[in-house]
Amino acid sequence: MARNNGRLRRTVAEILFHEGKMTRAAVAERLHEMGLFREVPSESSLAAIISKNAQIVSCGHEKVELSNGSVVKNMVFDIDRELIQSEEDLRYTLPYSSMSNADKAKSVRCEQCKQMRLMKEGWSICLPCSRRGV
Ligand SMILES: [Zn+2]
Repeated sequence: MARNNGRLRRTVAEILFHEGKMTRAAVAERLHEMGLFREVPSESSLAAIISKNAQIVSCGHEKVELSNGSVVKNMVFDIDRELIQSEEDLRYTLPYSSMSNADKAKSVRCEQCKQMRLMKEGWSICLPCSRRGV
């Protein structure tokens, strides 16, 4: 289950990276279309996955008109594009718990934030530390 969650978190980040900002419902729809997961997460577990993922930022609301004429505001999310500028950056910014087993085995502790991160040869601090200057 935990492993599956890591893959789910990575997939959600990939969807946002490739397709740009969207609402939680749109993310759920894309996950369903991809058919990679036996169960598409509920709105609330997707909300937890998104809010706990430091790779994802919220960027305002989208107004959606319901069939009864009332208008609701849905939050819109995107990948943190200051932090993640290329597809490979997705792997270098993952928390340890979301990494694939192969990346877990290669990860090292960042001197600055003390997190286990996948790093390139020669890096002394991780990508989030060097981009965010945390
Ligand atoms: Zn770091």
